[in-house]
Amino acid sequence: MPDEKRIAFVTGASRGIGRAIALRLAADGRHVVLASRSEGPLSEVKSQIESAGGSASVCAVDVSDRDALADAVSTTAKDHGRFDILVNNAGITRDNLLMRMSLDEWDAVISTNLTSAFVAMKAAARPMMKGKFGRIVNIASTSGLVGNAGQANYAAAKSGLVGMTRSVARELGGKGVTANVVAPGFINTDMTGDLPEDVMNSIQSMVQVGRLGEPEDIAAAVAYTTSDDAGFLTGQVITVDGGMTMC
Ligand code: NDP
Repeated sequence: MPDEKRIAFVTGASRGIGRAIALRLAADGRHVVLASRSEGPLSEVKSQIESAGGSASVCAVDVSDRDALADAVSTTAKDHGRFDILVNNAGITRDNLLMRMSLDEWDAVISTNLTSAFVAMKAAARPMMKGKFGRIVNIASTSGLVGNAGQANYAAAKSGLVGMTRSVARELGGKGVTANVVAPGFINTDMTGDLPEDVMNSIQSMVQVGRLGEPEDIAAAVAYTTSDDAGFLTGQVITVDGGMTMC
């Protein structure tokens, strides 16, 4: 018998945006599979979810390990008898100007931020189609929409997510499976924590709502996009950036 609750698999759930997404989806009644490399922080997120009355499980996986990631998704579907929601959120930066960027920096970012989403979607597609329901959200970035100096690798990966998501939306729309992108602007997390103060101030001056984003701002967009109510929303890029880019 399949589990009653919808199953959500969230990568990069150990901290930052992914953690906020996991907490929100659990609060909304999903069983959340928390995936990232570090088991300790994932267990803390699991405890937090359970203390609030939700349910979650930990899946220690490196999303750049293609076989391990595909296996983690397939095992989740098998264990729960269903696989409803996939949030590809795990991501890294390896910033450098084009002239200085190494192929290792290029490959690491493409593998972690783009290829992982392909691998996870491919493994999730069959159980989602079998259940006649699926919600895929790929977390991109405004860098992938407008570019960012020093981020040719990161912007390529994030822009790649957009084309890939729209292709998948076309392939799976008739099977009850939607696929969308949520593109955050600057969000207060470890990833942006070491930016110099003057850079942060100049970014903040471009944000129309007058503050940096919080992980919960992104989680709210993911909660709607993965809800049962969002069945007519697919192939979209939802930019959550406080009006910084308006694209
Ligand atoms: P953080 O650096 O705070 O967290 C990154 C998460 O990804 C961690 O949970 C980390 O877990 C996980 N992760 C990284 N590499 C791997 C890997 N190889 N395998 C498994 N998990 C991995 O980042 P944010 O929360 O800020 O970012 C989350 C997503 O949002 C990313 O895709 C990022 O590109 C995107 N984004 C962020 C913005 C921001 O301003 N913060 C803006 C636009 C987009 P662990 O180390 O435990 O493996």
